[in-house]
Amino acid sequence: MRLVSVAVPVPFLDPLTYSVPESFPRLPPVGARVRVPVGKRAVVGCVVGHDAALDIGTTARDVVAVFDEEPYLPPAIVELCGWVADYYMAGYGDAVAAAMPPGSRRDDASKTQRIVAATAHGLETVRLKPDSTTSPRRSGDTLTPKQRGVLEMLASAAPGLPASVLRDRGVTADVIRRLAARGLVAIRDERDERDPFERAGMAVTRDVERRLTAEQEAALNTLAGLADSGGFKVALLHGVTGSGKTEIYLRLAERVCAAGRQALLMVPEIALTPSVSALFRSAFGTRVAIQHSALSDGERHDQWQRIRSGKVDVVIGTRSAVFAPLTNPGLVIVDEEHDSSYKQEESPRYHGRDVAIVRARTASALVVLGSATPSMESYQNAATGKYVLVTLERRVMDRPLATVSLVNMREEYAEDGPDVVISRPLAAAIQQRLDRQEQVLVLLNRRGYATAVFCRQCGDTFECPNCAVSLTVHRRSTSSRRPELVEGRARGGWRGRCHYCNYSLDVPKACRKCAAPYLEHAGFGTEKIEQQVRERFPQARVARVDRDSVRRKGSLTSLLSRFAAGELDVLVGTQMIAKGHDFPRVTLVGVISADVGLGLADFRAAERTFQLLTQVAGRAGRGEQTGEAIVQTLYPGHYSIQLACRQDYSGFFDKEIAYRRGMRYPPMVALVNAVVRGRTFDEAMRAASEIVRRLEPMAGRVSCLVLGPAPAPLGRLRGEHRVQFFLKGTKRAEMRAALKDVLAAMPEVRRHVTVDVDPLNVL
Ligand code: ADP
Ligand code: ZN
Repeated sequence: MRLVSVAVPVPFLDPLTYSVPESFPRLPPVGARVRVPVGKRAVVGCVVGHDAALDIGTTARDVVAVFDEEPYLPPAIVELCGWVADYYMAGYGDAVAAAMPPGSRRDDASKTQRIVAATAHGLETVRLKPDSTTSPRRSGDTLTPKQRGVLEMLASAAPGLPASVLRDRGVTADVIRRLAARGLVAIRDERDERDPFERAGMAVTRDVERRLTAEQEAALNTLAGLADSGGFKVALLHGVTGSGKTEIYLRLAERVCAAGRQALLMVPEIALTPSVSALFRSAFGTRVAIQHSALSDGERHDQWQRIRSGKVDVVIGTRSAVFAPLTNPGLVIVDEEHDSSYKQEESPRYHGRDVAIVRARTASALVVLGSATPSMESYQNAATGKYVLVTLERRVMDRPLATVSLVNMREEYAEDGPDVVISRPLAAAIQQRLDRQEQVLVLLNRRGYATAVFCRQCGDTFECPNCAVSLTVHRRSTSSRRPELVEGRARGGWRGRCHYCNYSLDVPKACRKCAAPYLEHAGFGTEKIEQQVRERFPQARVARVDRDSVRRKGSLTSLLSRFAAGELDVLVGTQMIAKGHDFPRVTLVGVISADVGLGLADFRAAERTFQLLTQVAGRAGRGEQTGEAIVQTLYPGHYSIQLACRQDYSGFFDKEIAYRRGMRYPPMVALVNAVVRGRTFDEAMRAASEIVRRLEPMAGRVSCLVLGPAPAPLGRLRGEHRVQFFLKGTKRAEMRAALKDVLAAMPEVRRHVTVDVDPLNVL
């Protein structure tokens, strides 16, 4: 019997074994997609292995359909998925799903596969339309056999069937045109994908003559030497903001590609680093694939095919690009490696940086982790010699770092009352920049207008009915669907919204409980800052950048390009405005509440605060004029704020690592977090206690601590109660194995447990 092991899209499930009937001439290779039965359903899975034998007494069900004769996912990626599934305790199927391009796994492939074929004109492409009305099954009886044949051909083959294949199989342009006329396929121009930033007028042409600074030169030499050796290495490029790391990435990528290998560049968010994409585009032309958020599923899919077929030398993308199907990567760069957006907060809960390192290890590639504020984990690895440390201490052209000054908000309150949001020194500095026609960034890492509403008479508050949080207050008219109102001149009305489950309601004029008309706002977020900036500086052109304001695709890019073009004076925003930008006309950065993150019961709070402040201060003074940052805080003495002001990374690292060592926190130990969900608190607590009871003897053997169970900080989420516990120890593999064994013996409970290995956010 011929047996294959198949990863199926069912949570937590290990691969299942199926038998391949004689009617399939070839054994589907590892990486091929197959349709297999699971229970009463048929699903599309991926072959991950060839099984030699089965336990006596079990019988394997048959594979129903084989989609690919050649591996669809390259075997190296299948192997990487296996690692992700194992390490992060996710299902193999979940990991494979993360690696597949969109649309490649839907069960009714004919409905969703988008296949491109050139028509007679050669310039146009034909796509199978993805909506359900195009299902050949529904319209099947009215199609000619030829038309049906084309749809079936497109549907059952791997997507990206080249035009020549269709032609070879006797499909005429006429047939395709008729299908298009019926709305079953769409015809469009096939051009090389264009850079969205180029359209937005943000193109960067490469200055080939540019001389590297001595520091850049030395760093590049070290890294090039590591790359040339052709083996697996990890380097940490610690370069202050504005030290010219991007130029080093580019030259390194050119070198690796010249040697016949490929480069992968991971960034936290493409739209936030447009100059990186533009620079690579100008150097590599169409040999670079950029996975920006403005791409549709279909475009993403096409790009995946281009990478898969070897037409691409450089891939630039976010977290999921770590699974890009490059055949021989020689260089993997993780820019802003400290950024928490590399961690996926749903299954598989992987960290893109860590998976990148594993990917590079199997490919014998060089990893470059770049940051001005490396994570404690990475810097510790450099300090102990596990990674090669490469440092850039100065900005290019010897530009000075921004000067940072603190404003103690307690003094402002004493002077100006408790409602002050923009302090006098910050207001004066903004006015000065407006007068000089320079630009300003204002950061507040909290969305919305106010953080809560309460009744002054009876104290009633507006909580989410599903989650244990109060509703955030937004201006009702700040709707992304009505961009004319986003600019802030809102007509009255408030909307309370839960940032976890999206529940929302209109905030009434009077209290729901006591009818008193005294509803008040507490706290403030970016919407209020935007309003205040507009009121105090009516001549300023102001825009806001946060997840609410950029919900529409492309709106972030367009806001940033307007700012870059000088059409805006002030950008108010969340941490989105702190990342990676290079706006030479920004000479002032204001931080409204530096301590937003410090109140959280999270051992990484100081690290996050330090990173955010250092990064945002690093946005100022990147051009000719010197930059200044003004940081408002209630805790001017806190070490993360003090050291961020001095932009003293190593001072911060020394202090923070001592704290982590003392408290036995990562990176000194490993953590595994498990959240158990239940309909009632007692139900969740009972299940968690039972897991912990079974874990304890095993944990003792690998000398790891089990902490908890205890109510999770977010005690209720989407209607479910949450109880959590932690494993803390140094033997990560044994800790994972112990938890896995315990959970495997409790399948009913398992479905209500979320495991997070190396958690970043614990809520
Ligand atoms: P980082 O990523 O380290 O913060 P960037 O790569 O964004 O810094 O570079 C900062 C600025 O300096 C960019 O505008 C870049 O074009 C410019 N730059 C980089 N290298 C040089 C150089 N050797 N000479 C002149 N300008 C440079
Ligand atoms: Zn909610």
